[in-house]
Amino acid sequence: MKRILITGGAGFLGSHLCDRFIKEGFHVIAMDNLITGDIRNIEHLFKLPNFEFYHHDVSKFIHVPGELDYILHFASPASPIDYLKIPIQTLKVGSLGIHNCLGLARVKNARVLIASTSEVYGDPTVHPQNEDYWGNVNPVGPRGVYDEAKRFQEAMTMAYHTYHNVETRIVRIFNTYGPRMRLNDGRVLPAFIGQALRGEDLTVFGDGSQTRSFCYVDDLIEGIYRLLMSDYPYPVNVGNPSEITIGQFAEEIIKLTGTDQKVIYKELPKDDPKQRQPDITKAKEILGWEPKVSRAEGLKITYEYFKNLPEEELYKAAYHREFTKK
Ligand code: UDP
Repeated sequence: MKRILITGGAGFLGSHLCDRFIKEGFHVIAMDNLITGDIRNIEHLFKLPNFEFYHHDVSKFIHVPGELDYILHFASPASPIDYLKIPIQTLKVGSLGIHNCLGLARVKNARVLIASTSEVYGDPTVHPQNEDYWGNVNPVGPRGVYDEAKRFQEAMTMAYHTYHNVETRIVRIFNTYGPRMRLNDGRVLPAFIGQALRGEDLTVFGDGSQTRSFCYVDDLIEGIYRLLMSDYPYPVNVGNPSEITIGQFAEEIIKLTGTDQKVIYKELPKDDPKQRQPDITKAKEILGWEPKVSRAEGLKITYEYFKNLPEEELYKAAYHREFTKK
């Protein structure tokens, strides 16, 4: 049985990856410090003999007994609100965290795949963004802690690939949504759906003309799986190229939820990218991958998930207590 370590295994993407690799017959070890992850995302796996959970901070030395074939580094705060609240941890998990994962990979002779992000392109001046674009990032702006951590993580990963011959894979993930997103993580989709469910107006930041391209989680997981199994060590964009303005997106959510709430406009956060759309030529060519789930289908499933959460979830304080302790 192949053995895989998934850091951030209790998070939104990490937990979907745990499900996928369990389904593929792997022994899965999920690691998470539960700052932004939620144990409930993986609770259903606890009864399985081929699933283990380590409550551990990946920024500290990692010990995993036994063999490991694969390591997926998905631990990191990933929403602008989260990394504004916990900037140091964000920097640490992208730098010290990946160093620990790569060191572990060397010892275990494991293949590593890291979760990178469209944020490495910053506020892009090239559209759509392809993997050869180096980006337009403000290192000292509010997003700098995330963007630079992820850029450092890519550099460190390439260095281990080049100098230590570690087998590495880099996925650049564009905006992704689906069940198990945190309702209160501040990202636009849970923000809008949460507002609609509470009967509040939807808050569009800026004039709503900025664009994003949203990928349904199942499509993303399939792309990641294929990349891990490929032999391609350089960055690959995985996302859905279907681009939409945030203003239009708010209208779609209003229609979907059947709410009669209005859109209200708030100040655009600093360094908020004006446009974002993945060029997925490489993923198509190398992985034979492209997204299959339309936004209409994906949003319906996601809305059902949020609607069926216990009502108190809608009003719960945004953060776990732990992050205030260093
Ligand atoms: N946004 C918004 N209203 C909200 C939350 C976000 O208009 O309540 C906007 C945000 O300014 C950005 C886009 O939606 O332009 C996507 O934001 P998100 O935080 O989901 O992720 P980002 O792609 O910016 O990292």
